[in-house]
Amino acid sequence: RATNGSYCRTLEKKVFEQKLVAESGNSFLKIKKKIVSEIGLNLLFLWHFLTDKRYTTMNIHEYQGKEILASYGVRIQRGIVANNPVEAVAAAKQLTAETGTGWHVIKAQVHAGGRGKGGGVKLAKNLQQVEEIAEQIIGMQLITPQTSAEGKKVHKVLIAEDVYYPGESETSEFYMSVLLNRATGRNMIMYSTEGGMDIEEVAEHTPHLIFTEEIDPAVGLQGFQARRIAFNLGLSGNAFKEMVKFVDSLYNAYIGCDASMFEINPVLKTSDNKIMAVDAKVNIDDNALYRQAKIADMRDIREENPIEVEAKEVGLNYVDLDGTVGCMVNGAGLAMATMDLIKYAGFEPANFLDVGGTADAKRVETAFRIILKDPNVEAILINIFGGIVRCDRVAQGVVDAYKNMGDAIKVPIIVRLQGTNAEIAKELIDNSGMPILSAVQFQEAADQVKAALTK
Ligand code: GDP
Ligand code: MN
Repeated sequence: RATNGSYCRTLEKKVFEQKLVAESGNSFLKIKKKIVSEIGLNLLFLWHFLTDKRYTTMNIHEYQGKEILASYGVRIQRGIVANNPVEAVAAAKQLTAETGTGWHVIKAQVHAGGRGKGGGVKLAKNLQQVEEIAEQIIGMQLITPQTSAEGKKVHKVLIAEDVYYPGESETSEFYMSVLLNRATGRNMIMYSTEGGMDIEEVAEHTPHLIFTEEIDPAVGLQGFQARRIAFNLGLSGNAFKEMVKFVDSLYNAYIGCDASMFEINPVLKTSDNKIMAVDAKVNIDDNALYRQAKIADMRDIREENPIEVEAKEVGLNYVDLDGTVGCMVNGAGLAMATMDLIKYAGFEPANFLDVGGTADAKRVETAFRIILKDPNVEAILINIFGGIVRCDRVAQGVVDAYKNMGDAIKVPIIVRLQGTNAEIAKELIDNSGMPILSAVQFQEAADQVKAALTK
């Protein structure tokens, strides 16, 4: 089981790298930018991601992240979630009653950062504006530097108190995240005086303004470390004390919920010298969800790729990509090779799908159905190595699935089976009367993909 878990993560990482390389033309800088823009991971995490295995993570919304933070005693910008403009106005009234705030911020709740830049975070100065802005944001396709070109549909908003009110001192914005440094095997707190903006940009232009504090797992976060952070952020007086407490509670929250990342950008020093989390981007290590029932319940599958969600439910490893050739393979290494093969033939993989060791007819059919949900698929390449599973069984599965699905399959299918009983398998397919092309050699399969798609 353990081996399988780490295998899955290696596989996911490989697929992801492949996808990035495919889209970024191999330039490391472009790849970095791509990762950052796609999933908003920060630079260090990214580095470890590229050089080591990665976690599989579950994302949650800002309002959920803030609920967790508050339960650990971290001061947060308070807010109430709303599903429609009527609820938004009620939430704003309630917040005014509870906090005394006159102004409200309406914040789109989607699993992507950079919402402010995309028009997903707006200030309302009265209830009428709350209603208007909520009306405008709920239901919109929010496009940010971290979403795809079509953006993400907003289903709910967080109505939050305005915390940038004027007062005795200037407000300041900091950056802070807690994450695992895989190189040292320790958790670390990464922070910067340059909050509110993209940390990736800070890392690129002013890397000396990013600080880190590593935590010894034997003793945990020490008081002097929290004080050093507050000091490096240039704080004094009450703000200093608040920051020390903030860091301590934030770290407890990170540990307590088995997170792989907590990113608070910005951490705000208010004009009356309070320190609070204005934003919360939280990734949970999903290997720990079995003991984090409350957090597991926070999953919002509307934010995930629907085909990937379905594949996960039936136990298939599926990753959606942008090309036109659907792939069905067994094994991560073979998957990589198959993607290379497709690219070598001049095309792009539409997905990555690992059927695993038990490719019987039922599974192959499920895999077919999943691949075919992607409207971009113009051909399917099945590349299976018969090691534990025999090729003739796989071939029978393919033929049976094809027969069962009949008209549903409108694209050419190329099957390459290699390993135990490969020849019998090829015969089985050739004699099935189905329009399935079979190949034994890698090159043959590539040629057939090419022939099928250039017709
Ligand atoms: P992100 O753009 O997805 O990272 O969303 P954030 O939660 O970080 O909000 C974006 C920006 O909105 C912040 O950097 C702040 O500058 C601004 N903002 C957030 N809360 C308030 C608020 O209470 N008042 C005002 N005036 N601006 C806010
Ligand atoms: Mn932010």
